[in-house]
This record gives sequence, C-alpha cells and structure tokens, in this order.
Amino acid sequence: MLFQDLDLIEPLLKALQTEGYTQPTPIQEQSIPSILQGKDLLGCAQTGTGKTAAFAIPMLQLLSKPHQNTKVHKTVKALVLTPTRELAIQIEESFKAYGKNLPLRHLVIFGGVGQKAQTDALHRGVDILVATPGRLLDLMNQGFINLKDIELFVLDEADRMLDMGFIHDVKKVIAKLPAIRQTLFFSATMPKEIQSLADTILRNPVKVEVTPVSSTAEKIQQQMFFVEKNDKKDLLLHLLKDKTIETALVFARTKHGSDRIVKDLIKAGIKAEAIHGNKSQNARQRALTNFKAKVTRILVATDIAARGIDVDELAYVINYELPNIPETYVHRIGRTGRAGLSGTAFSFCDSEEKEFLDDIEKLIGLKIPVTEDHPYAMSWQSLLAGAAEAKAKGKTKPARGARPSRPDRSDRAQRAPRSEREPNLSGAKKAPSAAGTGKKKWFSKNKPKNTNS
Ligand code: AMP
Repeated sequence: MLFQDLDLIEPLLKALQTEGYTQPTPIQEQSIPSILQGKDLLGCAQTGTGKTAAFAIPMLQLLSKPHQNTKVHKTVKALVLTPTRELAIQIEESFKAYGKNLPLRHLVIFGGVGQKAQTDALHRGVDILVATPGRLLDLMNQGFINLKDIELFVLDEADRMLDMGFIHDVKKVIAKLPAIRQTLFFSATMPKEIQSLADTILRNPVKVEVTPVSSTAEKIQQQMFFVEKNDKKDLLLHLLKDKTIETALVFARTKHGSDRIVKDLIKAGIKAEAIHGNKSQNARQRALTNFKAKVTRILVATDIAARGIDVDELAYVINYELPNIPETYVHRIGRTGRAGLSGTAFSFCDSEEKEFLDDIEKLIGLKIPVTEDHPYAMSWQSLLAGAAEAKAKGKTKPARGARPSRPDRSDRAQRAPRSEREPNLSGAKKAPSAAGTGKKKWFSKNKPKNTNS
C-alpha cells in the first residue's frame, strides 16, 4: 500500500514525499482510514512503529476541513497529551513536518521553562496543542487554555502516564473535554488501569495492535557482557575504541550515575553529554541536538529519556546498568533498530544485576548471547557466585515494582518539578506476554532519510 491509496489530500501527500515516506507503516495503514472516518481508536503500539504519523496525518486532514463556526477560529481544536517533554517536542515536530503545506497552527507546551512564549502563542491562536499534563493543567488553571472546542483528543503513551504518576492529571484534563469529540488512545502495554480508562473514554473504538513490547527486541542484535561493577567504566572505554561506533546512547539508572559516566568519558577524551530530569529543558534539548548532529559521540540517558529520544539511524545502545523493570530494557534497546534499520544493543551485567537479566530474558523469550571476548570478562560461574553472595548479604538491587536503588539524594536540593522527575517505576505494569499476540512488523531495509528529527 502507498500513501496515495489512503485518500489523503494533496498538501499532506506532498509533505510526506518531502519527508521521504512512501509506504505507510502497519499502524498507519490500519489507523489512518478509521481516523479519517471520525472513529475513536485504541492503538496498542509504542514509539518506533510510526504511531505519531498514524495520528498526526489524519488529524491534519480532518482539521483542514473548513470550519463553519468562526468562533472556533482562535481556540484549540485538537489536543495531544503526552508524558514527556522530549516526546511532546517530537510530536510537534511531526505536525510541523506533515502539516507544512497547511495553514494550521500548532504549539507544544511543557513545564520547566518560562510560560510567556507559550501563552503568547496561545493568544495568537492555536489549532493543535501538544502538551505534557502538568503544564497544560497549570495554564488551564490560569485561564490561558480552554478545552471546550476540542474536536480531537489524543492520549499518547497512556501506560507511561501511569508509570510516571500522571494518571490523575490526565483524568483532570479529560474531565474538561467536551463529551462529543473523537478520541485516539495509544499505549504500548494495557495494564488493567489503562484498559479501564480506555473503556471509559472511548466510544466503539477501532482496535489496532502492532509490535508488542516484547517482540521489538528481535530485530536488534543484542550482546551481554558479564563484568564486575568496578570494571564497567573500563569496559565502556574499551568498546568505544571501536571507531565504527560513531554514536551511542548509554543508559544509566540514576541521574548521578549518568553524570559520573559523562565525567569518565570526557576525561578519556570522548565527547559525551547527559540527558536526565535534573537538566534544564534547554540543556536537554541542546544535548539531544548535539547528539543528533554527531557533535557529541555519547549521550548518557536515564529512563525518562528512553521513549522520548528519536534519533534517526541510531546504531548503538549501551546498557551500562540493567534496568530492574524488564520492559524498560525493551524500550531502551528500541531506541536503535528503528524504522526497520538494524541496531546493536550492548548490556553490562554485574553480579547484583543477575536477577534483572533473568527477568529480561523471560520477557523477551530469548537468551541474550554473552560476549566473552573482552579484557574484563567475568565467567558465568563468578557471576552466579557473586549473585548468590550479593543475595546472602541482601545486596541485590530492588526487583520490579520497588523504588530504584541508590536514589539520587545528592541532588535533592535542586529537585526538579514533578513533571521533570524520573518516572515512578513503582507503577509499572507487566507487558503483554511474549511472542505471538497479533505480532505485525514493519521492515523497510531502505528507510528513506527522515528529515523530521
Ligand atoms: P514513531 O513511532 O512515531 O516514533 O516513528 C518512528 C520513526 O519512523 C520516526 O523517525 C518517523 O519519522 C519514522 N516514520 C514514521 N512513518 C514512516 C513512514 N511511513 N515511512 C518512513 N519513516 C517513517
């Protein structure tokens, strides 16, 4: 199927051509016709499947129809609610790219920055608003935003909203929406609370499911490195001697930890920056821009960035520490191998993380190959012995559902506002079980260059 077959208007087709998109991804193919017909949608999909375009393209088309009611001219007609600033920015960039030949105005709002530029833009008039929940409620309470003319509402990454503790804010926003509207609901997983929220806000939705969380891992080449905790730094430097690794996204569990990795890398002459919730919005955006431009070779991120970062052709993800929630592993490595390209994920596992490795392998349904060909290799036996010893000493890291270990108390004084904090992992729910369930993949070996991000 081609985009031409989807009944899209010429300005959109032209923009998609500029983006280099020819074929819709499965989620786009399945969602766009239903959304254009005005139906509600329940999409079980995560980033990397093309879900942003799946809702943005038909929304732009629907909103381009002439509006009879001139009063709605200056009010917001479509709202996209998304959990993180990075995602919000990327979604707005998508509206900008796909809507470049249309006269619709869009705006992105999020916390952690001054509100003046945002309220000024709202005064000028906005058709499509992309927002994170905290800042949206804030500006609504101050009277800058009224949702009474919303025709289209998108709830993006609903499960992530739950994980991050935003679900009550989301419900408050929903309470202010007009009853008659079209709702598009996206979530990578469907925990009970999210399913019941979907049931209450959707009317006869069309259901679309692509690439369940556990299956995304399959197209990514994964390698596990057993290593002592104290050797992780040297192992990272050793791997980065390979100049074919042009850029890599390194995941650390804590903000403090990611700053430390950046320091070590810089000391070794490797350009690196950190991106996490304690960095100002500007610093985060700058770090992301530098990384995309390959000015910075290594971007070290905490999990708040895991779903938000969309870097075209990112070939390497390195898990410096294994996450205690197995789905997080899949989300992290899903930053590479996007849009059908291949990707490699290296993971470091020390004795205390052995349990996390077991959970991850159970979720993805495969044993991650172990690489022993490096100077810091720890044998499987040593890993097991260390794991048993750590367990006996009560030193294993908290399992899923518990708070992350070693909370970053050092920077509590400058604790970021709620909307900027690292996700509250305690709310995380299990993903749909491994292989099989309605699995549909989108492979395109020759993915055209996307100029959108
Ligand atoms: P998303 O799942 O929305 O985060 O999109 C994943 C990536 O795929 C983004 O870089 C998009 O720009 C890109 N993309 C989305 N749809 C298409 C398409 N039909 N053809 C090529 N690239 C696409």
